Amino acid sequence: MKYAQDIETKDSAVPPPRKIPREIAVVGGSAAGLYAAGLLAQGGASVRVLESLDTLEPAARTLIVTHRMRDLLGAAVERSIVNEIRRFELFTDGRSAAVSLKNPDLIVERRALIQMLAESARHAGAKIELGKRFQALRADGRGLALEFERSGDGAREEVRADAVIGSDGAASRVARSAGWAPLDTAPLIQAIVPLPKGMAPDTVRVWFIPRDTPYFYWLIPESPERGALGLIGESGPEARRRLEEFMEKRGFEPIAFQGARVPVYSNWVPIRKRLGQGSIYLVGDAAAQVKVTTVGGTVTGFRGALGVARLILNGGRSAELHRLRRELDLHLLLRRSLHRFEQADYSRLVDLLNDRAKRSLAEYSRDEAWKLLWRVCLRQPRLALLGLRGLLMGRRAAARPGE
Ligand SMILES: Cc1cc2nc3c(=O)[nH]c(=O)nc-3n(C[C@H](O)[C@H](O)[C@H](O)COP(=O)(O)OP(=O)(O)OC[C@H]3O[C@@H](n4cnc5c(N)ncnc54)[C@H](O)[C@@H]3O)c2cc1C
Repeated sequence: MKYAQDIETKDSAVPPPRKIPREIAVVGGSAAGLYAAGLLAQGGASVRVLESLDTLEPAARTLIVTHRMRDLLGAAVERSIVNEIRRFELFTDGRSAAVSLKNPDLIVERRALIQMLAESARHAGAKIELGKRFQALRADGRGLALEFERSGDGAREEVRADAVIGSDGAASRVARSAGWAPLDTAPLIQAIVPLPKGMAPDTVRVWFIPRDTPYFYWLIPESPERGALGLIGESGPEARRRLEEFMEKRGFEPIAFQGARVPVYSNWVPIRKRLGQGSIYLVGDAAAQVKVTTVGGTVTGFRGALGVARLILNGGRSAELHRLRRELDLHLLLRRSLHRFEQADYSRLVDLLNDRAKRSLAEYSRDEAWKLLWRVCLRQPRLALLGLRGLLMGRRAAARPGE
């Protein structure tokens, strides 16, 4: 099975190939780590993935991603897609606007995605070792020595590697061991609920209620019967309370809850450090590669993994990482503006979504933020002014990402 983004794809800013590290240890066998492992193994590296869970069955999580995922992963991704989204409905203060998508968003079940990525990585030659919890690392002679605790008997195990990829999530222990600063995080919580009668299964609903959250509430159908209703909050208990109140008011009955803390991108995290003769890289949530407008990190984590894999295999800089950084920085700018929006601003935003602006939103996805913003500004300049006003006229005192 081959990835759509072949590692041999030419990255214009990359100098010619140089020596590949002999042994690469990938710590964390989830989306970003398994994708990096597969690409590296496909490129000829010797790769071990070390994952703390005993099985490749992470907790259930309903993910919405843009069609960019198909470009990155190719045909293999189809097995993990449970639904497609063709329309967004935005609500605020009694107003609404609908945006149809030219390329549908994909609803993905994380477990199936992880299993597909693991299969691809193994097929490319990577070894996956489960039940191994990373503890610490140190420079050791010509490379690095990593210490793991085995689940079950709690025994210690040492693994040697020339390069390490930390893909162990928002609270990355690899990053802490190697001296990176901890990341800011925010709680994301969603309840699986029956869809309201008459709700189209290809339509996501979004509610902007700035007195509850500077982000938004969403309802994402995963099938014609059920969907994920959630929000990003600023504190865990508060987010849960808001979600329960929201469900009670609108008559939603939770079937199950999903939640965890997600990184809040507040600055580009340098993705590489040297320790002795070895190199340590971060990808995915461990490097806060998350779009801070929506706190979606799946596609951006894959792009981070692709960038690091190219960097290791080809040597030098990676144009993909440069593009990802520009994209994440733009989302940060937008989030800083949105974080200051009050109800009147959201009402105006929804009112300003005229047909021309909606067409831009339909054509470009949130993984092409520069193109999207440029087109929206051309077609509805007053939206750009509204965003600028948000940036300049800060009113919300608390929790402004990146400040
Ligand atoms: C409820 C919820 C809903 C979300 N919805 C969306 C969405 O709709 N769209 C979207 O794009 N993003 C969404 N996200 C964010 C997205 O899930 C993450 O950005 C993405 O999963 C990050 O992948 P990752 O591989 O970098 O890290 P993770 O998925 O966090 O994986 C880290 C891996 O490392 C392992 N690990 C941790 N510590 C150690 C250790 N010490 N030793 C060995 N292994 C270790 C973990 O077991 C895990 O397998 C959501 C997040 C949450 C919490």
